[in-house]
Amino acid sequence: MLEVSGLSVAYGRHPVLHEVSLAVGDGGLCVILGANGAGKTTLINAIAGTVAASAGRITLAGADISRKPAHRRVALGMATVPQGRGLFPDMTVAENLELGAFAEPDRAAIGGRLERVLALFPRLGERRGQLAETMSGGEQQMLAIGRALMSGPSLLLLDEPSLGLSPALTLDLFRAIRRIVDGGISVLLVEQNARQSLKIGDFAYLIEGGRIVNAGPTAQFRSDHAIIDAYLGGRSG
Ligand code: ATP
Repeated sequence: MLEVSGLSVAYGRHPVLHEVSLAVGDGGLCVILGANGAGKTTLINAIAGTVAASAGRITLAGADISRKPAHRRVALGMATVPQGRGLFPDMTVAENLELGAFAEPDRAAIGGRLERVLALFPRLGERRGQLAETMSGGEQQMLAIGRALMSGPSLLLLDEPSLGLSPALTLDLFRAIRRIVDGGISVLLVEQNARQSLKIGDFAYLIEGGRIVNAGPTAQFRSDHAIIDAYLGGRSG
């Protein structure tokens, strides 16, 4: 589905990502773990096309998108939920969702997508007429993901969706993300919440100082003592 090879990014003369390579399989949920400042957001933004790469190649379903602008990547099936969600705060839930499908001329296709989003997040249906800014943090995150799904993606990029959410809400959200994957959409999930993201993910990468330092099936990460100590709060849990 997505292949990234040798991706490097620098802000001015400050290198942030060093030859990052990763792959997200068809219908897979891939987790990128890393501490604050490791380069996770930069990686998502470089894949989405909102930050320029200095080297590397990105392919989506076999097509080279490395030189394509962000909006072309969306049109090719890649949707992003950025950190901070990027909602239109003074627009309603329904308007935000509709904007997600702005490039789709087929009303029936839009209706089908809306039905699937509301089945996934029934709360959004109950709150259709409410302004986005008056929704709770968890509801806004659902709306941001719902809006991304309205573009009809085959790959969804999520930048720390659990940020600021309670453990219970995070669990609900992660279950919904798993349902999205089980519905056939591949997901690349960047997270600091290692414990819960490793439970729902299929494959994980660990990023440190802008480099991938470890990769493997999530089950392998869950039983790796060094990772448990560093990212999962000790061995007892
Ligand atoms: P966090 O979890 O805190 O969001 P992160 O892993 O997503 O961290 P990035 O936001 O990608 O990390 O930042 C990686 C490094 O790049 C940091 O050292 C950061 O200070 C730096 N950086 C990020 N954005 C910029 C920018 N626009 N200009 C200069 N440096 C930046």
